[in-house]
Amino acid sequence: MKAAFLTAPRTLELREIPDPTAPHDGLVLAVKACGICGSDLRRWKEGPPQGVAGMIPGHEAAGVVIEAGPGQSRFAVGDFIAIAPDVHCGRCYYCRRGLYNLCDEIRFVGVTPELPGGLAEKLVLTGEILSNGIVHRMPEGMSFAEGSLAEPSCSVLASHDRAATGLGDTVVVMGAGPIGCLHVIIAKARGASVIVSEPSPVRRQLAERCGPDAIVDPSAEDLGARVRQMTAGVGADIVICANPIAETQTRAVQIVRKRGKVILFGGLPKADPMVTLDSNRIHYGEIEVVGAFSYHPTVHQRALDLIRRKVIDADLLVTHTFDLREVGKAFEAAAAGAALKVVVTTQKDRNQ
Ligand SMILES: [Zn+2]
Ligand SMILES: [Zn+2]
Repeated sequence: MKAAFLTAPRTLELREIPDPTAPHDGLVLAVKACGICGSDLRRWKEGPPQGVAGMIPGHEAAGVVIEAGPGQSRFAVGDFIAIAPDVHCGRCYYCRRGLYNLCDEIRFVGVTPELPGGLAEKLVLTGEILSNGIVHRMPEGMSFAEGSLAEPSCSVLASHDRAATGLGDTVVVMGAGPIGCLHVIIAKARGASVIVSEPSPVRRQLAERCGPDAIVDPSAEDLGARVRQMTAGVGADIVICANPIAETQTRAVQIVRKRGKVILFGGLPKADPMVTLDSNRIHYGEIEVVGAFSYHPTVHQRALDLIRRKVIDADLLVTHTFDLREVGKAFEAAAAGAALKVVVTTQKDRNQ
């Protein structure tokens, strides 16, 4: 089979490697579509972790079961399934409380080097991935590109559960990449009015597709003034930081209303995670600053259902599709910032 190996910064090698076989308690999936995530892009720019010669990235995968081990009964050959990357340990303090996304030993398919990812023609799902990972059958009639979109939708859905976004809320989304646009779609579906803040003109244009109530260029306009104008002087109920930029987190605390919530959704660069926040505003305004990372496995099934019902419309979000043979170009396109979701497909199923 063909598989894409990340061997150095910005270098993916398409290699021919032996076909995998299904473990006794696992599956082999013929991957049909695999989305490129912000975390894949970060890894691509940095190259494989130290001491790792090459790894197969990709975790937003969907495909069809082509071999099923006899030791598992959950899936059969021919099943269409979608996966998400988290594999929890099941033993730690957080796992025992059902908080699997906070697992102390969490590993990720396509991210942890010993768990090869979905940018390959075939992907092995071990018994451990089937029991402690996130694997769901796709609803009938769904395309594989739609199936691959469930994963990035999940963390967005889970963060709005934490924010309790609802009718009448004004939500500010900082950053209009693929994730920012998903925040717009979900916040609107939950009844909020949404203001997008994005300095890049291309991204502002892409964000328009998702129908926010206002789009602001924070480099040309005073975002805080615009938010106050749209909320009768009060401020935003919820501000979501959907980018890796520290400055937007500082800004978020300035524009949220008293008793409002700031959701720190995007991680900052690992080498530079410190931020200055106006602590007095948080204190006197009883503002909540909330972290949001990953999600409970059940959210993945909910995301598949929302995509099936077109509450999350894949046609709005998937702007570029590349064949696995052009995987390098796919990453270049995702990095260039002119795309929303970039999906890599296998050649036979280019149109799916
Ligand atoms: Zn992802
Ligand atoms: Zn655990």
